[in-house]
Amino acid sequence: MEGLKKQKCFLCDLSTATVLFEDSDFVVVLDAFSAVPGHLICAPKKHVKSLSELSETQSKELILLVRKLDTVLRNIFNPFRIAIISSGLAVEHLHFHVVPIPNEEMMWDFKYLRKDQTIEYSKQEKEELIEKIKKGLK
Ligand SMILES: [Zn+2]
Repeated sequence: MEGLKKQKCFLCDLSTATVLFEDSDFVVVLDAFSAVPGHLICAPKKHVKSLSELSETQSKELILLVRKLDTVLRNIFNPFRIAIISSGLAVEHLHFHVVPIPNEEMMWDFKYLRKDQTIEYSKQEKEELIEKIKKGLK
């Protein structure tokens, strides 16, 4: 059962993910189904369902990493808003979406999270974005 759960959890199997940052406890990846460029996912490496399963120190570190991503995305995109969401409904592995919303239109009705209108990065766009985010996180 545990094996089955792990197989289904995209945050426990990062083999196809674009990893932008990782240390011993946390990982940041590019969302594979973004409606807007720069949609990031930040998570603990440990398969936990909620913040209450992390220590206070780890919870603080995770939130500080989310805060850092907020700053990095603001510097790169100068977005209309930044959405920070943790739902954990579809995937029971605690994670935060950090999404730079480019304009007011994309903000309404959760358009910035639509999985049926995902963007395709060109190879160059993706490489440039990865470089900028990695640089910002240093
Ligand atoms: Zn997991």
